[in-house]
Amino acid sequence: MADAARTAVRVVMLGAPGAGKGTQAERFAKAHGIPRISTGDILREAVSEGTPLGRAAKATMDAGRLVSDEIMIGVVKERLERKDADHGFVLDGFPRTVAQAEALDKMIDGSAPLVIVDVEVPEDVLVKRLAGRRICGNCGWNALPAIERCARCGGPLVQRSDDGEQVVRERLRIYANSTQPLVDFYSRRATFRSVDGDQTLESVAADLAAAVASVVGGR
Ligand code: AMP
Repeated sequence: MADAARTAVRVVMLGAPGAGKGTQAERFAKAHGIPRISTGDILREAVSEGTPLGRAAKATMDAGRLVSDEIMIGVVKERLERKDADHGFVLDGFPRTVAQAEALDKMIDGSAPLVIVDVEVPEDVLVKRLAGRRICGNCGWNALPAIERCARCGGPLVQRSDDGEQVVRERLRIYANSTQPLVDFYSRRATFRSVDGDQTLESVAADLAAAVASVVGGR
């Protein structure tokens, strides 16, 4: 891996809440030794630490709405400047609006393509999945289905504060309004792929890897 530019793998994961993009992003990032950058995780951490960012975002997150583009663009810009993102990254939860996507294009140089993968799952499956989703009450880790305690720290599993039925409906509505135009924006690019997210974890992971390889040629 002598040349960072040649080995960089830059992926944006798109998909509605509950599409499984977080789990897949984590897995893909680990396999490639690159960071998974989840803006939802960054915000939840800021909320639990009570930082100015967390205080600014909390009410918006609890209502299932989008934090402002200005704040989010600042957060991601700072994160992408960290050294570990030099060889690539998987963005999970950003961009969520066309304005964020345009800002992302400006943040990165042209040395490696930006691969955009849309994980598609029918809405009735999303609602069912979100109602059953649990995270660790201690460390925030996303729990896999059918386990009793957190696999990372052993903490108790709880429902995410924004996964209640009312807020889930709002998040899906916001996704359709704000984020779907983003799919239209990216789908015109040669580096856009979509993957069927209504399959087993393994099959989605294999399709995701194949989709990225079809753009970056398996480097
Ligand atoms: P997530 O974990 O990706 O579902 O994000 C949880 C919540 O954080 C969202 O419902 C938004 O309130 C906020 N959020 C995360 N990423 C973004 C973003 N790129 N733009 C605006 N709000 C975001």
